[in-house]
Amino acid sequence: MYKKIESSKIAYEALSNEVMSNTEGMNRRDALKMMGVGGAAMMMGSPVQTVASESSDKNVKIIIVGGGAGGIMATARLRSAAPNAEITIIAPNEIHLYQPGQVFMAAGLLEESDIQKNNADFIPDGVNWIKDEVTSFDPEQNKLTTAKNGDLEYDYLVVATGIAYDYEAIEGMSEALVGKNGISSVYLSNFTEGTAKGGTETWKWFKEVREAATNASPDKPIDVIFTQPDTPIKCGGAPQKILYLSDDHLRGNGPDGGEDVSKNAKYSFCKNGKTLFGVPEYNKVLTEEVSPMYGNIDNKYNHVLRKIDADNKIATFEHTYEIKGEYDEDLEEYDVTEHKKSVTLAYDYIHVVPPMKPVDAVANSLLGWQKGTAKGWLECDQYTLQHRRFENVFGIGDILGTPMGKTGGSARHHGPILVDNLISVMEGKKLKAQFDGYTVCPLKTEYGSIMMAEFNYDGVAPSFPVLDPSRPRWMWWAFDLHMLKPMYWYLMMRGIM
Ligand SMILES: Cc1cc2nc3c(=O)[nH]c(=O)nc-3n(C[C@H](O)[C@H](O)[C@H](O)COP(=O)(O)OP(=O)(O)OC[C@H]3O[C@@H](n4cnc5c(N)ncnc54)[C@H](O)[C@@H]3O)c2cc1C
Repeated sequence: MYKKIESSKIAYEALSNEVMSNTEGMNRRDALKMMGVGGAAMMMGSPVQTVASESSDKNVKIIIVGGGAGGIMATARLRSAAPNAEITIIAPNEIHLYQPGQVFMAAGLLEESDIQKNNADFIPDGVNWIKDEVTSFDPEQNKLTTAKNGDLEYDYLVVATGIAYDYEAIEGMSEALVGKNGISSVYLSNFTEGTAKGGTETWKWFKEVREAATNASPDKPIDVIFTQPDTPIKCGGAPQKILYLSDDHLRGNGPDGGEDVSKNAKYSFCKNGKTLFGVPEYNKVLTEEVSPMYGNIDNKYNHVLRKIDADNKIATFEHTYEIKGEYDEDLEEYDVTEHKKSVTLAYDYIHVVPPMKPVDAVANSLLGWQKGTAKGWLECDQYTLQHRRFENVFGIGDILGTPMGKTGGSARHHGPILVDNLISVMEGKKLKAQFDGYTVCPLKTEYGSIMMAEFNYDGVAPSFPVLDPSRPRWMWWAFDLHMLKPMYWYLMMRGIM
């Protein structure tokens, strides 16, 4: 079925070859531990249904829009489940980026070429690939418009367009500023070019911050700011991953070693909301153990970056705070009112996480939620992933307007759900498969340690309940750095896992 990888057996062989080359140079003890992790890792995120339980021999037209993690997984799975369907993927990108690797690039552990592969390697034979972008959707006519190939009609549609960055929503900020004037942003990538500037520039930035701290002193420390916006973001833990890895890099724990110069740097984490993480069990460990372990991090809650003066290195935040009023005898509590004020902070270095939004083609169409906090995101049922108004439309990945699930790990769980339910609609059956909200954030708490934060609509959802999931562990670091990328290329992108 695939041009390069023809069966799951060959895919597993390719996977183990890449894992072996990734682990070259490890000492024997670590390599042995790694093998244990490998076995465990194959189960990661279970129970994911690996093979679609529904199939159809109908000859229908299915279009998938978007060739990132979700679009490719959906294409691979649909090709197997609907062998007679005419399947088309509309994806402009020749290069596929393994985006989670951008954090390891920022930490100096991977290079850009490590996270790039040709999208052609993943598109199964028998699928039409239109290298184009969709400019608008007309779901009432089962039609969409492309930039170069005109209008296309479909019987069934899968929307997998991902998320769009909105750096310009911060006054004075733009993509062009990343890598200049002490500014970086690990998220930045260009899907059309297949480049991940965010990873490359943030590693340079790590080294610049360290050099500046080396030349500073505890009396005159450098100021480094890390931000997190008030919009939904993909991989919600990435802002903290960069915060902790950069601080640990100052301690000489990065790949280039060195003295501990962390006393010469003041770190501020300016974020939306009142907590470090939305799930209480993970938030407790981050707030009470991980963040204090560094000693130089000031968590500034309810601070949202609104403006940057890049020339003068000044950031302006909207700070929301509460004022306690009179005690209400009837309600037996104090009146609390919310206020906002502008706070300016000078910095030497700043890591900016962009506000994020649904891609325009979806947001401006009838496919997006028409109002409310999810306005513009794909209006689908949070369990079946079927569009709430157009029954022949489904979604996968970051574009979904569901309460959670903007990670590659979530897209992996969306894959079999949407395929089974789409096939059920084709066959006139009741929709049975249900997405439980599974989201996974491998939160790097330091070099060599990860808290594998897995959760779903009901709360904490560890793949290995015997291990306390809130404990940062070396084994999750080894799994993420050495195993996950080959598993992504050889199993997930081929709809095998
Ligand atoms: C720095 C960083 C760290 C991350 N870390 C993790 C992690 O540790 N674990 C994890 O699980 N996830 C992580 N993620 C998130 C993960 O990469 C995404 O959740 C995942 O890629 C979502 O898949 P998707 O298909 O929805 O979107 P994407 O993979 O982003 O793909 C969307 C595709 O749609 C295309 N597209 C957009 N608009 C159109 C259009 N109009 N027409 C046609 N095509 C279009 C784009 O070109 C793109 O190729 C991280 C992401 C980043 C950036």
